[in-house]
Amino acid sequence: MEKVYVFGHQNPDTDTITSSIVMANYEKLLGNEVECCRLGNLNKETEYALNYLGVEAPRLIEELPEGSNVILVDHNSPLESIKDLDKMNILKVVDHHKLALETGYPLFYRAEPVGCTETVLFKMYKEAGLEIDKTIAGLMLSAILSDTLLLKSPTTTAEDKKVVDELEKISGLDRNVYGLDMLKAGTDLSDFTPEQLV
Ligand code: MN
Ligand code: MN
Repeated sequence: MEKVYVFGHQNPDTDTITSSIVMANYEKLLGNEVECCRLGNLNKETEYALNYLGVEAPRLIEELPEGSNVILVDHNSPLESIKDLDKMNILKVVDHHKLALETGYPLFYRAEPVGCTETVLFKMYKEAGLEIDKTIAGLMLSAILSDTLLLKSPTTTAEDKKVVDELEKISGLDRNVYGLDMLKAGTDLSDFTPEQLV
């Protein structure tokens, strides 16, 4: 089979980057040849997480040839995706945003109203009986803590919380210690007063 490219949205955040890595790993464990890519530069927060976990960043791509096989994570809107998405062959989408995609062909589409794509991916690993190792757990945890602002954003669901409990055990990371360090790495602290930081 031809190569498959996995990527998230433009202006990538921690969920988009880690979900493309975790989804590519999922496909590889199922025996499929895929490559995880990114559509833009890493932000400081994501850089911190990848550095901490010792994981390489996905390859930067600007465009792909017409007819390329792609898997989208953490988005489905063509406006946030690769150039000429309508000329690609979308095999799968794993997401947690509203539906903004129309295709003229059937595809695997999974989106759930949860706080983070990694919460959906966690369930997919479990359902397929695939191992979530320490590194994959760290990547998943980073994204959920980022998208939900340490489980405090209004988008946070009971499922996100349950998954974070499990990911803390596997990764050995503390949501508050690691999570706060990660969020801080992505923030220019000079933008805040000491009161806001506390
Ligand atoms: Mn995102
Ligand atoms: Mn997300």
